[in-house]
Amino acid sequence: MKEKDVDVIHTHKEDKVRCDRCTGIMVHEIFFGLHEYFWGWRCIICGEIIDPVILENRRGYKIL
Ligand SMILES: [Zn+2]
Repeated sequence: MKEKDVDVIHTHKEDKVRCDRCTGIMVHEIFFGLHEYFWGWRCIICGEIIDPVILENRRGYKIL
């Protein structure tokens, strides 16, 4: 069993995440849900929010 075969979600390095809507800079922020909190990205320009679930869906479906 090779360690490199393990699929780790947080291996990609993204220093700057750009907003899909306005290409503004997104900041890593903590968000509070109903029962727990999570880390996500928020656009400082238009307020677009991307949470880990959305990111996972995008990776899975490969939006063109
Ligand atoms: Zn934006």
